[in-house]
Order: sequence, then structure tokens, then C-alpha cells
Amino acid sequence: MTATELKLTNTKTRRKEVFTPIDPDNVRMYVCGPTVYDRAHLGNARPAVVFDMLFRVLREVYGPEHVTYVRNITDVDDKINARAAETGRSIREITDETTGWYLEDMAALGTLPPTHVPRATEYIPQMVAMIETLIARGHAYVAEGHVLFDVRSYGAYGALSGRSVDDMIAGARVEVAPYKRDPMDFVLWKPSEAGLPGWDSPWGRGRPGWHIECSAMSHELLGESFDIHGGGNDLQFPHHENEIAQSCCAHPEGGFAKVWMHNEMLQVEGKKMSKSLGNFFTVRDLLDQGVPGEVIRFVFLGTHYSKPMDWTEKKAEEAKKTLAGWYNLTDGVRAMKRVDQELLEVLCDDLNSPAAIARLHEIARRGTAEQLKWALTFLGFPEAEKVNWFRDFHVTLTGTAAEGDTPLYVDEITPFLRKWQKLRMEKNYEAADDLKAKLEAVGLKISNFRDGPVAKVPRDFDPKCLKVLL
Ligand code: AMP
Ligand code: ZN
Repeated sequence: MTATELKLTNTKTRRKEVFTPIDPDNVRMYVCGPTVYDRAHLGNARPAVVFDMLFRVLREVYGPEHVTYVRNITDVDDKINARAAETGRSIREITDETTGWYLEDMAALGTLPPTHVPRATEYIPQMVAMIETLIARGHAYVAEGHVLFDVRSYGAYGALSGRSVDDMIAGARVEVAPYKRDPMDFVLWKPSEAGLPGWDSPWGRGRPGWHIECSAMSHELLGESFDIHGGGNDLQFPHHENEIAQSCCAHPEGGFAKVWMHNEMLQVEGKKMSKSLGNFFTVRDLLDQGVPGEVIRFVFLGTHYSKPMDWTEKKAEEAKKTLAGWYNLTDGVRAMKRVDQELLEVLCDDLNSPAAIARLHEIARRGTAEQLKWALTFLGFPEAEKVNWFRDFHVTLTGTAAEGDTPLYVDEITPFLRKWQKLRMEKNYEAADDLKAKLEAVGLKISNFRDGPVAKVPRDFDPKCLKVLL
């Protein structure tokens, strides 16, 4: 353990506080994960990257084996049921496929696998048990096959977002249902008609409400009190208020989450990116367009998690240029063994990732390649040796200096190299220079080495532009 002090802004107190773990041998964090009915949009990736960065910092400070990170999969939800009905596919098929996509896409962004990725449907008995406890303690009631949480029975309701119950009723569009005693009461369990997923319970065949999932899974995997609970800002109310109400009423002896952290939203034209607004694109869309995952990660880290962020192509282009430079510097270099204390310190200051990127710029300018390599790895960027997109490729008369399956257009380029070599051998320097200038104009850098001419081919080279030279 280092002497670095970690400070985090706690939504619950609205202050930046020194973080002291309940048990430094097992620092525990829970983050609300995706509902799996569709590809993750870019906004969904923000909490994954933000809390991955926090996970990495916690692992550095407390030791990798002393941190437990849980990020759930919500695989029971009416949106999933609707998707199954629309497509005629089974729910399990949809949730399995979408979960696989999510894990794949988040891995492409350099996020480490959490310690546990629990699926809600595997924790139904724990949810039922928790609901039974809530009923027994007088915090929940059964009505028309539903079980509802009695919000008025929990005095501290609203403390996280700092609103009174009456304010919340006025501000939120709460669903008024005849079986609710109070419009704010929320569903813990609801009946499932035939054809919908359901589990047997003391209240008949049904399925859990969304909020109870996180309370039951975090309790099972992390205990009645744990250190950090994270998620997007949009989940503060009602989801997180409801999680707190359920967990604190079922396990009043525990304090549930000590620190609450919320990332701000990813925006498009000033509006939250979301499926319901239709202004979204997926992580996979970007990856398929050739934006490398590490470039997306770099852009994300450039904005503090507590600030709204815009995704722009310009940011992505700049990030790509910077990263390419850093990858060129660190390619084939062995990473420094020692932690860069300054980098760790800015990240320990409420996860100041823009300051971390600034520190990397400074290391690149004034430090060593070994330091830079450590820093890049610490921020979750893959090592240069595992990345290809930043490399320029070289084509020679005898082959290429590039690996991988990228088309290198050897057949298209070598005739020009041969022609250039011939002109030079014939001492027709004027024509040789003219050809060289024309090749450079289309992006090929031509030079002469001991073994003959070499063309440096940019990654995005388009051989069609050679046609004009034929
Ligand atoms: P959902 O699948 O909608 O429950 O969202 C999964 C996670 O993504 C939650 O932590 C949300 O807060 C987060 N999220 C959703 N939209 C955005 C957005 N536009 N920007 C940042 N985070 C988001
Ligand atoms: Zn949750």
C-alpha cells in the first residue's frame, strides 16, 4: 500500500471526502450494469470506463487482490420481453447474445473484467427473501399480486438526491396504480401473465421489479455494508433512492453503500444520449467505423466524470494523433517498474482523468519512454506491441516490414519502386525525383536504403490513387 490519500466526491454528502475503506483487505464496489436487450450505446460505456479507472486506482492503492468489483447484468426487464415478442426469439437467446456483445465492446475499451458480473435471473431466491424481510418488517405490502415498497415507512427516503417525498411526487412522473397506497410506492414484485418470464413466489408466479435486483445482488456478493456504489447520474432517482430504501430497511444493521459516485451524461448536441431519444450510436458502430477502442477510451478520460461530455469526431482525431505519437515512442520499450507518483496522485484526487492525460503529455515531453509506457498501461491502454493502427508500414522490393493481415498493396506499389530504382541507376535523376514527388503527393514516402528503395505506407493508404500515375 502506498501513502497516497484517495479522495472521492460522495453524492450522499455532496462533498469530496477522504476515502477510508471499511476493510482495506477487501475494498468493495458495486456499479449498476446494463439492461441487456440491445447493443450498448456510447453513453452506456461511460460508467464502464469511469468505474474501470476507479477499479484500477483502487487496485494500485490497496493491491489487486484486495478489491472486489461487482457490475450486474439486468436480464429480466419488460424491454427484453418486448424485444423477444417483436423478434420471436427466446429471452435467453437475446440476453445471452447481448451480454456477450456488452462484455466484448467494453473489453475493446480497455475495461478490466469486474470480479463478479452477476445476472439478475440467477439471484431470484435472494430477491424473494429480501422482499419477505421487507414485508415482515412493515416496509412492504402485498396488493393484487404485487408487492410494493411503502416509501412513507422509510424516513430517510430522498436523502441521496436531497429531495423530500413531496418534492419528488411533484417533480417525477410517478405511476399511479390503484393497488398503490401512495403514488411514490414502487414495485418489488409483480405478477407475470402466461408467456412472460416468471418465478414461483409466496405472492404467486411473478418477476422482480428492477430496483430489488441491485439490493439483493450487492448484499449477496458484498454484504450489508460496502464501500462504493456507482452508476450514471440518471440513476440517482428513483433507482438509487429505491436501492437505499430496500437495503437499509431489510438490513438496518448495515449502512449499505458508504460512498455514492455518479458519472455525468454523455451528450449529443447538449442532450443526454439515450435510446428513448433516438440520438444514439453504439460502441460497435464506432469500432466498425475504424475508431480504435483505445481512442474512445482516451476521449472519455479527457473529461472529468462529474462533467457532461460531448463525443465529437474532432476529439477522436486529436486523441488518435496523440496516442499514435505515444505508441511510437513506447513501441518495443520496456515499461518502468515504478509507479509514477504524480499520475497516481491526480487520479486519487477524485479521479481527475483530464489531469492524468495532462501528466502523460508531460511525461511524453520531459520523461522517458519507459515512464510513458507504465503510465499508458496504468490508464488502461493496451501496449504498443498489441496495437497496429498507429504503425506506418514499409514496402520494399523484396517484401514488407509489416505483420498482420492488413492489405499492404505490395503488388501495386513495388512497380513504382522498381521504376524509381531503374531511373536512378540510369542516372536519370530528374525523372526519378519527379516520380518520387508524385508518389509523395499520394502519401507514400520514398527513401533509399542499402537494400534498395523503401516506401513508407500510411495505415489508411488507398491504392486507387496510384492509378493516376500509371
Ligand atoms: P441502462 O442500460 O439504461 O440501465 O444504463 C446502464 C448504465 O449506463 C447506467 O449506469 C446509466 O446511468 C448509464 N448511462 C445511460 N445513458 C448514459 C449517458 N448518456 N451517459 C452516461 N451514462 C449513461
Ligand atoms: Zn442498480
